[in-house]
Amino acid sequence: MKTTILDKLDIQLAATRPLSGRTALITGSTSGIGLGVAETLAADGANIVLNGFGDAQAIMRTRDRVAAEHDVEVVYSGADLSDPAAIAEMMAYARDVLGPVDILVNNAGIQHVCPVVDFPTAKWDAILAVNLSSAFHTIRAVLPEMIERGYGRIINVASAHGLVASPYKSAYVAAKHGVIGLTKTVALEAATSQVTCNAICPGFVLTPLVENQIEEQARAHGIPVEKVVTDVLLASQPNKRFSTVQEIGALAAFLCGPGAGTITGASLSVDGGWTAH
Ligand code: NAD
Repeated sequence: MKTTILDKLDIQLAATRPLSGRTALITGSTSGIGLGVAETLAADGANIVLNGFGDAQAIMRTRDRVAAEHDVEVVYSGADLSDPAAIAEMMAYARDVLGPVDILVNNAGIQHVCPVVDFPTAKWDAILAVNLSSAFHTIRAVLPEMIERGYGRIINVASAHGLVASPYKSAYVAAKHGVIGLTKTVALEAATSQVTCNAICPGFVLTPLVENQIEEQARAHGIPVEKVVTDVLLASQPNKRFSTVQEIGALAAFLCGPGAGTITGASLSVDGGWTAH
């Protein structure tokens, strides 16, 4: 087939994208922040491993759309991140189909809102497994090869709740503080390599995770549902607006670039001033 000038321009454009040829694995990327980060990294040219739960057909449509819109390869693993064996399978699958993982974004997370004395033990265990332990398992799987290959970006999506607490979120706050501790430790262990490890700490971003807790928050605080956004969620966020998934994605993309080569072990707030209090 004849190559046109436009085809050549497309090829040049693809080659100049900053993450061309990189592989990025983003956990919990079938919705919300993870999908936003995946789309931003794909726009910068990275091939993508999506992961998470949801309607199978909707996930396949998302996979195909991201691949077509950004002209990158996109594959999907439905691994349950509360299961270390499933994580190991996902990491092996990613490597087999797209090559070594250059960018790892530990983003999958779940929430449960309830006073600590009534907090169900099973919920505690699940939140610790998905929000904290899964990052331990994925990091161990990719770090040696990142160091050996001379490039790696590990980005852990923590939370403002990794830095400060709120009532009724004991497991989530404990897990997110743990993620920040893990981030610092990995950063120190990899400090003399070309691998960085940082945490992004969003305040409130309007995603299914937040939408689903509005009723629980109303119950726990004993207030009407329509008061939850103003009186609970955005009460601590001085700018009084939700961050967008694109804003989180933009920071992740920056962290993947050469300008962020000496940013490591940091907990970067994207919270409208919440943790400035
Ligand atoms: P979301 O519910 O939209 O997305 C969560 C993703 O994790 C989904 O893809 C879901 O399928 C996946 N997931 C859940 N359990 C899983 C499991 N066991 N195995 C594999 N995948 C699983 O939520 P979100 O708001 O986009 O949250 C993403 C991350 O951002 C979480 O770690 C969350 O704690 C963090 N965060 C969110 C906010 C916010 O306001 N939305 C604020 C701070 C931090």
